[in-house]
Amino acid sequence: MNLGTEKRIYDLGEGGMHLVHLLGGKGAGLAEMRRMGLPVPAGFTITTAECTRYLKHGRLDEGLVNEVREAMGRLEAATGKSFGRGPRPLLVSVRSGAPVSMPGMMDTVLNVGLNEETMEAMVALTGDRRFALDSMRRLMQMFGTTVLGIPKEEFDRATLRVARNNGPGSADMMDLDTLDGLVREFGEVYRNHGLEFPQDPYRQLFMSIEAVFRSWNSDRARAYREINGIDDGMGTAVNVVEMVFGNMGEDSATGVVFTRDPNTGEKRLSGEYLVNAQGEDVVAGIRTPENVYGMERRMPGAFRDLVEACDRLERHYRDMMDIEFTVERGRLYLLQTRVGKRAPRAHLRITLDMLKEGLISVEEAVMRVEPEHIEGIMHPRVEDGQDGSVICSGLAASPGVATGEIVFSSDRAIELSKQGRRLILVRPETTADDVRGMAASAGFLTQKGGMTSHAAVVARAMGKPAVVGAEEIEVDHIGGVLRARGLTLREGDVVTVDGTTGRAYIGEVRVTEVAERDDIDEFLRVCDSVSRLQVWANANTPEEVALAKRNGAKGIGLARTERMFLGNDRIGVVRAMIMSRDSEERRLYLDRLLPMQVSDFTEFFRTMEGMPVIIRLLDPPLHEFLPEKEEILERLSGPADGESAAELKKMLETVRDLEEFNPMLGFRGCRLGIIHREIYEMQVRAIARAALRVRSEGIEPNVEIMVPLVGHENEMKELREIIMKTFSSEDPEGRIRYKIGTMIEVPRACLVADRIAEFADFFSFGTNDLTQMTFGYSRDDAEGKFIRQYIERGILRHDPFTSIDLDGVGRLMKIGVELGRKTKRDLEIGICGEHGGDPESIEFCHTIGLDYVSASPRRIPVARLAAARAAIRSAMGSRES
Ligand code: ADP
Ligand code: MG
Ligand code: MG
Repeated sequence: MNLGTEKRIYDLGEGGMHLVHLLGGKGAGLAEMRRMGLPVPAGFTITTAECTRYLKHGRLDEGLVNEVREAMGRLEAATGKSFGRGPRPLLVSVRSGAPVSMPGMMDTVLNVGLNEETMEAMVALTGDRRFALDSMRRLMQMFGTTVLGIPKEEFDRATLRVARNNGPGSADMMDLDTLDGLVREFGEVYRNHGLEFPQDPYRQLFMSIEAVFRSWNSDRARAYREINGIDDGMGTAVNVVEMVFGNMGEDSATGVVFTRDPNTGEKRLSGEYLVNAQGEDVVAGIRTPENVYGMERRMPGAFRDLVEACDRLERHYRDMMDIEFTVERGRLYLLQTRVGKRAPRAHLRITLDMLKEGLISVEEAVMRVEPEHIEGIMHPRVEDGQDGSVICSGLAASPGVATGEIVFSSDRAIELSKQGRRLILVRPETTADDVRGMAASAGFLTQKGGMTSHAAVVARAMGKPAVVGAEEIEVDHIGGVLRARGLTLREGDVVTVDGTTGRAYIGEVRVTEVAERDDIDEFLRVCDSVSRLQVWANANTPEEVALAKRNGAKGIGLARTERMFLGNDRIGVVRAMIMSRDSEERRLYLDRLLPMQVSDFTEFFRTMEGMPVIIRLLDPPLHEFLPEKEEILERLSGPADGESAAELKKMLETVRDLEEFNPMLGFRGCRLGIIHREIYEMQVRAIARAALRVRSEGIEPNVEIMVPLVGHENEMKELREIIMKTFSSEDPEGRIRYKIGTMIEVPRACLVADRIAEFADFFSFGTNDLTQMTFGYSRDDAEGKFIRQYIERGILRHDPFTSIDLDGVGRLMKIGVELGRKTKRDLEIGICGEHGGDPESIEFCHTIGLDYVSASPRRIPVARLAAARAAIRSAMGSRES
């Protein structure tokens, strides 16, 4: 690319969203709005490429300086105003704007071009000295802090000084003479630093441009990029925009509006505005802003135009928009637009509504919702009846519940979070400098600020609970004290914030699962309509089966029977069964377990009402059901209570017998079923009886029996015969149709899948064991001892127990699918390892043609979304290629 001939400056309206990488989000949005004919002041954008160039050389180059001067000439012509001269002085704002939204992270200078001379011209032009002085003090403060790095506190102190000497309040309420004094006092602040406020408007302009470029590398901007994974190399554009004035009196205002409610998603404007104010006043929480609907009465014309602009922008962008505007003497101007940040719940509502409004397609709707959104919505809520613990009530700025220890500063939050503490950041309000601290905290509570305040916006973007503007509390962050309803709380005290209701509680409170799920259910049905891959559930107890069904599982992909053995009423029988001298005695105890298993399985078949239920025969080694050797020894050495000395000795003997060098690779799974066939026979009998019982109740059960840990086709062959024989002894007329299949979890099984498929009606990848055995990692050892370091060093890209290792384990799976289906074309294949709930792994399962993924009941909503997104992505992929 030839940097020399590249276009460096775009007049607003020349570009558009397609140039967002060069113009930044703000510049591209302004250009787009101007092209749509919306009321946007004139201006131009210096590209992000110039930022990179500036940061490299440390100065503006001659060519750019000249082009800016030319662009200013065009701006003067377009506006009929002149920069640095009367009678109609041109004032501009110099604004940052990166390709990816970084709200409030970089700098903006307003009213550039104002000096002694142009200020007098403004007075002459508007007849409003107050306004001119107000604009001047704002420029001096913004220029002083952002361009010259004078601490903001010095301007605050100067303001207080002048106010104290001359009567009432903040700069907003000062009379003319006081304001005049303030401007002079600000001049002093400059001189105290050996500086002079520059009178030359071009000097103001170029210094501001450089400051905006430099703000790309400010600490807070870097922190924001780090937390949000934004590329450091992008750079910011600079927008130079003709000023319009919201501080020209009672018919002027500045405000921020979302086209829909960013918290609930409801289709109505949501925003705030301030009369006779400029720029950041709304967000900064200096005065409390009013609800945007208040404009309807105060400035009806501007309000009408705003409503219309919101509507047009939504249709144009086909999304919920966030808009910054200013009203100058009753006339509306739009100063920024971008896709609005919103809470996960609102995002879902908006997506569903826009789908119904015909604004977006089903595919777009599905692709707009990320797994994190679904997780964010499944947030718990505070249970009713705990009002006694409420310490304050504020604005419900970002939904969800978080409990943690109070901290009063971002630095402390960062420090304490490293010790693994859960924290609630409590502040008077937050600023851009708090982003790191907010990332380290679980929730936020602020005393000041509205629904568009910094804390609220960042919390929603991070998906963390926040209560803001809780005016009834008093936060003394320097003294480290929070006073609320007569309580005095300090660092380390535990509080709970509920960002759904806007309340905070002392201590930890009881929470419940989400109450209203209508939107999730509706959205997930949309997902199901495009997926090919089904979502089943791993469920071991009747309660889990019920939850799985509630969450939309289309089957049970794995019911582990051993969990049922661990129940209090059963473990004694199970142990006696294990310690039996011979298979005859063992059968005795198995007979006692049989009715218990029948009732378990009956529940499963009943609840699933004819959907497939895969029951896995016993898998773990038997010693897992006995106490640890150490425990038995200890009990033996303890005070003898007649009951059991002999029993304990017998148990110890059995434990010693069953002891294995490597239990993971030991006597378990189908190996157990082959050697102690009476165990599997009992289980199959129970399955058959349960199925017959449910059938007699009028539900046709969909039975699948799964054999674990098969690595050789002969294992499958032998067990298939045993299962069939046992089943038909219970159901001689063959009224129940059932499948016999196997887990594929030993690497060898993948490689001989064609032979195993001769004896199996279905496969289910057990990717936990398959991962262990493919890598030769024992999971419990690996995760504790070296996997983290492996990832840090880049030896592994991620934890293979979380996301399927595509190159190794994935490849084996692919071979297994191909070979299996070579023998049986319609072989039913799924996955029941924990990977079945991981979006990346789900996409892979879709790609290799599995029929379903089986995930834990809680992961089912996310898995349904992931299955739909996988289908859409692969359709897009095949269209592209
Ligand atoms: P940020 O990226 O922090 O939002 P902006 O560049 O949007 O910074 O500026 C902040 C605010 O300054 C805007 O919301 C708007 O109220 C005000 N502002 C910026 N440019 C102008 C302008 N040309 N005229 C009037 N107000 C402006
Ligand atoms: Mg802005
Ligand atoms: Mg296994």
